[in-house]
Parts: sequence; C-alpha cells; structure tokens
Amino acid sequence: MAKVIIAAGSNLGNRRQNIRQGLRLMNKSGVKIIKNSSYFKNPPAEETAGGEFLNAAVLAETNLEPEPLLALLHEIEKNSGRPQPHKPRKARCLDLDIIYYGNRVIEKPDLKIPHPRRLQRRFVMEPAAEAAPDFRDPILKKTLENISRKNMATVKKSTDLRERLNAVRKSGRKIGFVPTMGAIHEGHLALIRACRKAKLFCVISIFVNPTQFGPAEDYRKYPRNLEKDAKLAEKAGAGLIFAPGVKEMYPAGLQTSVKPAEWFSEELCGKYRPDHYRGVATVVLKLFNLVQPDKAYFGWKDAQQLIMIKMMARDLNFPIEIIGVPTVREPDGLAMSSRNIYLSPAERKAAPALYHTLLQIKNDCEKHKKSLKKTLKKASVCLKKNPFIKLQYLEAVDLSTLENAGKGIRLFPKDETLVAIAAFLGSTRLIDNIFVKM
Ligand code: AMP
Repeated sequence: MAKVIIAAGSNLGNRRQNIRQGLRLMNKSGVKIIKNSSYFKNPPAEETAGGEFLNAAVLAETNLEPEPLLALLHEIEKNSGRPQPHKPRKARCLDLDIIYYGNRVIEKPDLKIPHPRRLQRRFVMEPAAEAAPDFRDPILKKTLENISRKNMATVKKSTDLRERLNAVRKSGRKIGFVPTMGAIHEGHLALIRACRKAKLFCVISIFVNPTQFGPAEDYRKYPRNLEKDAKLAEKAGAGLIFAPGVKEMYPAGLQTSVKPAEWFSEELCGKYRPDHYRGVATVVLKLFNLVQPDKAYFGWKDAQQLIMIKMMARDLNFPIEIIGVPTVREPDGLAMSSRNIYLSPAERKAAPALYHTLLQIKNDCEKHKKSLKKTLKKASVCLKKNPFIKLQYLEAVDLSTLENAGKGIRLFPKDETLVAIAAFLGSTRLIDNIFVKM
C-alpha cells in the first residue's frame, strides 16, 4: 500500500459538503483515509473565478497506482458537477489533487508528482502538514511541517487567531505559547526553541503592552519591527504570530484588570514600577484566554514576572503549565534584552558589570561561605563607584513571603535563593538575576 496525500478544494455551492462527499467516495473506492485535516478558508488563487475557497487535505493509503488514482479523482470531481477536462480558471464544486504518492517522483506530461506548484500554495501545504506533519517531501527531504512553517502566518485579529488555533487543536496537536513585546533576540528565540523541543505547535505573541509601562517609561520609543521579528521567529520554529494592535487588545481601554497581591508590589521591581505587574498580569491573562495554550514559556531573566505568572495560573485555575527558560547572555555576560540597543558604547561596555557582580556574590556565598547579607552590601558599595551605573536595587528575594505564597508550585530550584539586580545606565533600565545555593 502506498501512502498518499490528496488535497481537496471547493469554492462553489455547499463547499464543505462537496469536499466531504468527494472524500467519502474516495474512501469507498479503495483510497483509505487515515487522517483528515480541518477545513481552511482561503481567497481564490491567481485569477480563479468565484468566491473564497474551502481547502482540506488527507493522508490516505491505496493499492491504486498513480494513473488509476488520478482517473478516480477526476471521476469523483465529475460526479460533483465539475466538467472534465477542467477549465482551469473556473469556480469549482470540487478539486482533488494528488500532492504526494509515497516517495515517488513522477514527471509525465499529464501527471507530475509531487505536485509541482505545491510549495507556492499555502492552501495546499497548510492542510497537508496538518494531516501528515511527519510525511517527508521526497525532493526537499523535509517534513511537511517544516515546509509549511516557511509559510508561517501573522494574524492581527483575535477571531483569526481562534480560527487557526481551532484547526491546530482539531488536528490533535498541543499548543505552546511565547508572549513577547517583539524586538526579538536570542533570549526570545530560546523560548521558541524550548517550545518546539517539547513538540508543541508554537504561537508567539508580539504586543508592546501599554498598560505595563509607567508614564515616564519608554512605551513610545520601544523598538518595533514586525517583519524582522516574524522572520526570526519563523526560523526558530514558531508556527503562528499573533500581533494585535492596541485597539484589538483594549477596545474599551482597561475597565477590568488583574492585580497581584499587595506584597508583590513591595518586592524588587514592584517597588519602583507601581502598576507594572498589574499590566503584565492583565495582558498575560487576556493572551492566555485567547490562545488557550497547554504550556507557556517565560524567561528567568524576568524572574519576578515568571513567579507572578506561575502564581496567577495557579490562583485563577489556568490549566497551563508555566515553564521557565534560563537567561540567554551576550558573550561578555550581559543578559540579552530588547533594551540593550539603547545603550551608548560606553554604557554597553559598563553593562556586563551587573552580571559579574551577581557572579561574584554567588562565588563568595557558595565557595567562600560568606554571609549573603554582607556580600550584598559590599557589592552594592562597589557598584555605586561605577560612574555609568546607577544602582536601583541589589537584593535577595524574601523567601519567607514567597514560601507562603508559593504553595503548590515550584518557584525555585531546591535550596536556592534568587539574587536580583536593577540599575540605570543612562536612561536605560536593565535587570538581571542569579540563583545562589544557600
Ligand atoms: P519581552 O519581550 O521583553 O517582554 O520578553 C518576552 C519573554 O522573553 C519574557 O518571558 C522574557 O523573560 C523572555 N526573555 C527576555 N530576555 C531574555 C533572555 N535574555 N533570556 C531568556 N529569556 C528572555
């Protein structure tokens, strides 16, 4: 038996019924369907007449050789009311194409397999990849999932996001989610890669969320470059980008929000960015509702944010596993951040001192068994002498508060505490942190 992939499309009459009927006839005529894709809506290709298409694909098994299989598909098309031979640009009740026949490559005047125009047609490859993600294209030697990702979509509307994700879910795949504000760098890409490594369909959101910026902060000048971001995300394995505008996310401003516990705004960044975590919690909750992922990925670089999200997911009963990914750094130790581009050359040169200070603290406490409190104090005094660095805080998180609030979730590796730092270099605020074994 050969494994085949057949694409179906219709833009005339009852489109869904036409496709269903065609596939049913195929199934009865010796082409056993193993897996159906969902139905995708697409605008008509090239100058094809008629309205929007509905497209689907199936993975099937058959004993029919390619030519009799093609003849059968033509017969079924004819049955559905499509005249044979085809008139190429006409609207059609049913179009059935052989896209792949096992790993055979056939080059005959009236039969070319794999389908020669498959790669230009997202309306073919997207459903084909859903029906048979691991099927290999015999020419490109890549899986359909890999090929289809090259056509990754960017959607801006929540309705489009839902529609696409419903199709992904129907195909039985689990969804992983990476929320970002864009200006994608290796840190963000590490989250996408972790998601893909877990074999999840990866959705990334790119949204510079106004409600998490204070009035004097950098909302307006925050770097935005969707096209470049999309390319990077796609290369790392993202399957879908959600890039809504502010109106899409907050059509009526912010009437309802999520506020983390009071003590949260008394710790680390919370003290200095009064409404920041409320803005983050609210937007992440909204994104969780829209994407409904199985797992969501956040960087340890923003440790307080990660802890807050873990608590929120627990407190508000989100059935989402929150995964922390280690901080990705520049070769000189500076934690990657979208804000690093604001640094002047002199500030950039000074910036790795934040991480080196954290490393020194870790070393003093773990190797030389010095007291954490004294080490922190000494490091603060030392940093304050650096003319480029205006220290905001250098603290260990209050484990006693966290232990209480963290019931039922693993916040840190065992026996470790988090030492966090925030500092201004010029007008750029940078943060970083490290785990210290106590
Ligand atoms: P942002 O776009 O800055 O809101 O960040 C989006 C996500 O990427 C958050 O979960 C961050 O913690 C994570 N992230 C940012 N920088 C890094 C980094 N250097 N290493 C790992 N994750 C990061």
